[in-house]
Amino acid sequence: MSLIVHKYGGTSMGSTERIKNVAKRVAKWHRAGFQMVVVPSAMSGETNRLIGLAKEIQAEPDPRELDMLCCTGEQASVALLAMALKAEGLDAISFSGWQVPIKTDSSHTKARIESIDDTRVKAELNAGKVVIVTGFQGIDDQGNQTTLGRGGSDTSAVAIAAAMGAAECLIYTDVDGVYTTDPRVVPEARRMRVVSFEEMLEMASLGSKVLQIRSVEFAGKYRVPTRVLSSLTDPMMSLDDEKVSGTLITFEEDEHMEQAVVSGIAFNRDEAKVTIRGVPDKPGVAYQILGQVAEANIDVDMIIQNQGSDGTTDFTFTVHRNEFNKTMDLLKNKIQGSVGAREVAGDTNVCKVSIVGIGMRSHVGVASLMFKTLSEEGINIQMISTSEIKVSVLIDDKYMELAVRALHKAFGLEKEAA
Ligand code: ADP
Ligand code: ASP
Ligand code: MG
Repeated sequence: MSLIVHKYGGTSMGSTERIKNVAKRVAKWHRAGFQMVVVPSAMSGETNRLIGLAKEIQAEPDPRELDMLCCTGEQASVALLAMALKAEGLDAISFSGWQVPIKTDSSHTKARIESIDDTRVKAELNAGKVVIVTGFQGIDDQGNQTTLGRGGSDTSAVAIAAAMGAAECLIYTDVDGVYTTDPRVVPEARRMRVVSFEEMLEMASLGSKVLQIRSVEFAGKYRVPTRVLSSLTDPMMSLDDEKVSGTLITFEEDEHMEQAVVSGIAFNRDEAKVTIRGVPDKPGVAYQILGQVAEANIDVDMIIQNQGSDGTTDFTFTVHRNEFNKTMDLLKNKIQGSVGAREVAGDTNVCKVSIVGIGMRSHVGVASLMFKTLSEEGINIQMISTSEIKVSVLIDDKYMELAVRALHKAFGLEKEAA
């Protein structure tokens, strides 16, 4: 009997009515002969509510305790879904991450999955039950509960599918697939029937929140067939129609791939920019600055170094906005003195907009069309970074929607591919 993993996001689990619909859909799959593991998120808004409570008490909440708190959101969801499945006449059992167990490292609030022991889940599946496992959480080797970062339930689902050799991982959400850009920002955005793994990886890493980046990494590493589809359709729709709906992540370029040069546009409002100016320009300074940032477990994204004519250099880099205060403290109180820099500055009113497409490999002029489009809109570019299949720019965040809409149009994304 083949195993299918379903993941349901916050909106899909947003009310008891929606949870009952999830149970109906899962029951339909189970009755069609599939073993089912279901991974739900917390009910919509719950994780934000919990983080808000924590911040009312501690401006920078203690990471271990924040994880303890946030784990409750998913725990409520699994129990409610197990009850809903029982009410549907199925046998079901829910597990928290630690009960599986899903082992992670100890980086609270952004832990990485290290291993999954599927013995207990398998035994329950073989006993004919639907198994429901909390998204977003795990346990470290000290027995502390951890969470996998915002949107982490996607990663839980794909990792479980990978560990258990599932036939497919279906990510049910509040849109009916992966679009050329966020359809909430550009209503003309178009759903892709298939998206290449590489493009999905770039889109997710550049801010398309429809899938958490690590879920796409797991899908690629273990070749998990992964599909993004809507949970808001009729739960009793035909299984044959449901199986081909949404967007499939493909690992090979085939004749179904759309041949656009740019396939999608991603944006990310979660970045902040920091600059350290007037650093004596000599070998080792980049390491002295960025090494200390890395040691503090802060991820750096874009980096620019500009040499001045007076023997000094300026470094600008971006970090996650949640880590902006920590980074500024580190720069001002430790790094500035140790490298002898003149000043430190920061800006949180920035966002990153990126164009993504495997077609860029074989086309020139893609970046220049991006820059021309932004200049015609009067948008100043603060930083640029490129790879083989993407170009990203950092701009003032008040222009984000304008930039995304203009680029979506300039690259002809709302038109059907020929
Ligand atoms: P869930 O709670 O189901 O995990 P998320 O809010 O995390 O849902 O992700 C779904 C949302 O991702 C959509 O509602 C949409 O606004 C957003 N999104 C961003 N980029 C894209 C994209 N390229 N295609 C589809 N949705 C996108
Ligand atoms: N509930 C978590 C969050 O809001 C995990 C998830 O939804 O994937 O980030
Ligand atoms: Mg999500």
